[in-house]
Amino acid sequence: MSKKIQAIRGMNDLLPSDSNIWSFLDSTISNLLLSYGYKYCRTPNIESTETFARAIGEVTDIVEKEMYTWKDNNGDSLTLRPEGTAGVVRMMIEHNLPREGIQKVFYNGPMFRHERPQKGRYRQFHQVGAEVFGVSDAKIDAELISITQILWKTLGIDAELEINSLGSAQSRASYREILSGYFNDNKDQLDEDSLRRLKTNPLRILDSKNKELESLISGAPKMIDYLDDDSNHHFNALKNYLESLDISYKVNPKLVRGLDYYNQTVFEWISNDLGAQGTICGGGRYDGLVEKMGGNATPAIGFAMGLERIALLIEDKSDQIINKRPHLYFASIGDSANIESMNLSKKIIEALPHITITNDMSIGTLKNQMKKANKSEADFAMILGEQELSEGHISIKPLKGQGVQQSIKLEGIIHHLQEIL
Ligand code: ATP
Ligand code: MG
Repeated sequence: MSKKIQAIRGMNDLLPSDSNIWSFLDSTISNLLLSYGYKYCRTPNIESTETFARAIGEVTDIVEKEMYTWKDNNGDSLTLRPEGTAGVVRMMIEHNLPREGIQKVFYNGPMFRHERPQKGRYRQFHQVGAEVFGVSDAKIDAELISITQILWKTLGIDAELEINSLGSAQSRASYREILSGYFNDNKDQLDEDSLRRLKTNPLRILDSKNKELESLISGAPKMIDYLDDDSNHHFNALKNYLESLDISYKVNPKLVRGLDYYNQTVFEWISNDLGAQGTICGGGRYDGLVEKMGGNATPAIGFAMGLERIALLIEDKSDQIINKRPHLYFASIGDSANIESMNLSKKIIEALPHITITNDMSIGTLKNQMKKANKSEADFAMILGEQELSEGHISIKPLKGQGVQQSIKLEGIIHHLQEIL
């Protein structure tokens, strides 16, 4: 036998037995975003490397060490997208969409980062993200947060909201000086990564995952104490909106998020049930990015949520929250009944598109087919033999203790199924 081929580490198959949770997540999230007037969009999985380097920032974990980048046959540098915002911004600019008015969009798809695989952290993972272009008021910041809160409620997920303000570009620049001063004074305590960031982007030291730096980072001056008037106003407005929407939050002054493009509002939703990989959704405002990517200055804000982490949180209770499709098992005996079973299946599915029919493929004995029906997860078996067919009847047998077997007239079967399913 030849050697078996395996998938790449950190890039997982979605097995058929697990897929219903994902279909449920996809449709629940899409429906919620559509209700709020967000439109679905899709950008390519691969973009020019520059799209990400420019948007995310050179001195970030993602661009420095997590991207899958290679040269194609033309020598162009391409990258598998590590996140969704850069591509959406590129799309907005390329198609001049913000000129047409406020844009509210969402995407859903795979992202790729070369990280150490562990529970809740993979090299191919999946995000749903929403982005809004053209609104600067904190009302939209609150709407995005409110949408995610509704989602956690629907899914029965317990998550805590942390918010922070990174201020305007100007207030960030003066804070940067102050922060540099602080870390320079404590240079001997910094690790190699942070020393490098001290030169290039000291704010990113606050985002360090090195536990040994925890107390040094806790003692650092806080951006929130250096906000200018406009930024304070924006942050206070957001807090007021959240309070009136009954959304509890914690201000976390250390929250800076792993990407460079944020300003003003940043937020994360954190679950305590996932260990170290507890952030299930992160977002923030990025008013400067559209211009930085070559478009006209356009305020913007968005979030992205990690679907694997959300799936982990709901897998134990998926039976309670996912509506199962009613399922029929069709057993037929004899050539003409076999043919009729296919015809009937077609008619039934046309009339009841929300159900599943398993049409037995074995052409075995009734006993064998019923054995399989009982093993399957079907709710009812439909039995059609030559005799039933000649009498114009079909039998319906409940498989989960919902009453006794009944014989139904063939022409009344759809009506009967509509009543019981
Ligand atoms: P972390 O701090 O956990 O590395 P991040 O700040 O890099 O997260 P974002 O870029 O903000 O993550 O992505 C938004 C969400 O996508 C995260 O909150 C998380 O739920 C999910 N996510 C990010 N990286 C991964 C990954 N490698 N595997 C699975 N999910 C991920
Ligand atoms: Mg990360």
